[in-house]
Amino acid sequence: MIRIHTLGYPRIGLQRELKFALEGHWRGETDEAQLEAVGAALRARHWQQQAQAGLDFVTVGDFAFYDHVANHIQLFGCEPARFGFDGGESTLARYFTLARGVAREPTGRHEGQHDSAACCAGHGGGKPALEMTKWFDTNYHYLVPEFDRATRFALASDRLLAEVAEAQALGHQVKVALLGPLTFLWLGKAKEDGIDRLDLLDELLPVYVQLLVQLKRAGVAWVQLDEPILGLDLPGAWLLAFERAYHQLATSQVPLLLATYFSPLEGQLSVACKLPVAGLHVDGVRAAHELQAVADWLPDNKVLSAGIVDGRNIWRTDLDRALALLRPLAQRRGELWLAPSCSLLHVPLSLREDAAIDAELRGWLAGAEEKLDELRVLRNALVEGDGSVWTELCASRAAAEARAASPRVRKPEVARRLASLAPGADRRASPFPVRQAAQAARFQLPLYPTTTIGSFPQTAAIRAARAAFKRGDLAREDYEAAMRREIAQAVREQELLGIDVLVHGEAERNDMVEYFGEQLDGFAFSANGWVQSYGSRCVKPPVLFGDVARSQAMTVAWSAYAQGLTARPVKGMLTGPVTILQWSFVRDDQPRATTALQIALAIRDEVTDLEAAGIGIIQIDEPALREGLPLRRALWRDYLDWAARAFRIAASNIADSTQLHTHMCYAEFNDILPAIAAMDADVITIETSRSDMELLRGFGDFAYPNAIGPGVYDIHSPRVPSVDDILRLMRKAAAAIPPAQLWVNPDCGLKTRDWPETRAALRNMVEAAKVLRSEAALRGQAA
Ligand code: GLN
Ligand code: ZN
Repeated sequence: MIRIHTLGYPRIGLQRELKFALEGHWRGETDEAQLEAVGAALRARHWQQQAQAGLDFVTVGDFAFYDHVANHIQLFGCEPARFGFDGGESTLARYFTLARGVAREPTGRHEGQHDSAACCAGHGGGKPALEMTKWFDTNYHYLVPEFDRATRFALASDRLLAEVAEAQALGHQVKVALLGPLTFLWLGKAKEDGIDRLDLLDELLPVYVQLLVQLKRAGVAWVQLDEPILGLDLPGAWLLAFERAYHQLATSQVPLLLATYFSPLEGQLSVACKLPVAGLHVDGVRAAHELQAVADWLPDNKVLSAGIVDGRNIWRTDLDRALALLRPLAQRRGELWLAPSCSLLHVPLSLREDAAIDAELRGWLAGAEEKLDELRVLRNALVEGDGSVWTELCASRAAAEARAASPRVRKPEVARRLASLAPGADRRASPFPVRQAAQAARFQLPLYPTTTIGSFPQTAAIRAARAAFKRGDLAREDYEAAMRREIAQAVREQELLGIDVLVHGEAERNDMVEYFGEQLDGFAFSANGWVQSYGSRCVKPPVLFGDVARSQAMTVAWSAYAQGLTARPVKGMLTGPVTILQWSFVRDDQPRATTALQIALAIRDEVTDLEAAGIGIIQIDEPALREGLPLRRALWRDYLDWAARAFRIAASNIADSTQLHTHMCYAEFNDILPAIAAMDADVITIETSRSDMELLRGFGDFAYPNAIGPGVYDIHSPRVPSVDDILRLMRKAAAAIPPAQLWVNPDCGLKTRDWPETRAALRNMVEAAKVLRSEAALRGQAA
């Protein structure tokens, strides 16, 4: 018996209907009933698509008005006590409070400008939202459950059961998807010392059992319990807990499908196969090599669900290859299910009719809807023979062949250039101390030099000009003139403020990856390829389909224009190869490392051209370096090696006296300090203010050799830091890092802020640097 299903489905809608409904509701334009109606309509449409594709069940429980982890917090009645809900609020109102926090005073900012949900509160009172963090190695962010001594669990929301009834009323057979209890606890955070999340399991399990019994009573055919943590390097106690937990869950007698994804099971494979569940789903894309082992280990009476269609990427499945993998499994197993590797949340809903992608390329792609159809074809081929789906198989074969042979994909000169790269091409000519001396002589910067991270406020005027230009209502020269005026203003502002190393402000950039992708060969952009990032926020990752090459300079004219306006150095501003890779849908026909190196070569050319145009300081941002880390530690080394090498290839073809900066946003740096040092940037600016400079301690203990600019204020907040705030942080920094190595700068780019607060904050920052300098001078005289 072969069945097909999906672990989850995109929820935002092809036209981002959910986004607009949410934001309208948050602005107070619609009431809860209106918002609920939009949610119900989207669910109905998405179930209909699943039914139409011939799926054996529709999946219920994957919908969320903000985030599915947050749904579980309400479902299991563990909203943190700190929110102080008094029972008078509606469930939905409490839900959005968890997600967005409560500001104590109105900040005057617009929803669209929030960089993170956590930023709309927390400074000077209010209730900070739940923390947000990345869902495994995806770009989706979930709300982090908080556990403390007051945490209790109880079934507290009937939303899930209502959605089950909704699907059943529409005539669908239902499989419910839930997070498994161990993954739910793992994703949370203990908010008090001495609390071990695992200790909460015994209290949580009975609530799960109660829910499962209710779902069974409601006529649910299967319950899928997602336990992706089985693909991580799991501490022994957690692995042991699986057995205990699943024996208890089995008492509910509802058929359970244990779902793992994103990573091979490796040493945890036999435990996963032995758990008392009715079925096991494994990621047949990232762990294709384990499929056969699971088919052998899994007891015969259990269902094997093979995640054969890539849920993380947008390439059309090579159906011949998939069938070759599936045939032995189908022979070996009594019941085989076919599914995407993971929830389809991470791919666009459909790309079939995307207006912005040409027909040839579109033919190589598959969005969620198209992936469901691939499952149907695979099932039919296995059950009724290839002849039953001959047309579809031929089309798949033709697409795979066309893609492999396309001159748009392969540019032999790119491969040749990579192969012939000189051995030292990823090294600066001299070690850091030599470069530092050359740069000091050239730029004559003071102690504690001040700078910013790159972007200045993307004002309404800038966005309007770009929109008009894209619509064709504004001629290119008029658009460019408008951007030059913005750049000139940014330069003037910085000179007035007395900042030492200026930036041009990035007015001309929509997005730090898209801006470069649009100018490089090998990238394409969809019109509706939206993927949820968090809450109502979506991203539209570029499609990196072919060998990357730069046909002409991308940023030089803007940087040179800015530099021509001032005697102070203006940083050239680029996005690094790893970040461009990480924030795109990347081709799957060559190793990611190769693609990263190709991007690195293009950035290297840009760096070379910037230097030739007289730009003395160049910054290559790599905010996504940390998030690219593989889920399993055993793979870190290889990743960090090629990632740092790609960066150095981009960054090394310059004179000792040219200063190379990099920037990274907030991340757990301590794990990867050797790799950061191996990047060998002359200056790294990082986000540290939220951690109160604690992050810097790692750099100090590691004796990080090059210069560092620890962020002195949180740019996600509209709050203007005082001179004293900044001084306090910088003094903490100076205790961890020798002052001669320190720069003074904000945490990140300022594009989401407005000019008055930016001006005020930077004025205080420059003032603080002056205080630090005069203190150092006094100490120097005293010594
Ligand atoms: N240069 C970019 C900016 O200032 C960096 C943004 C980022 O690291 N996320 O906006
Ligand atoms: Zn940043």
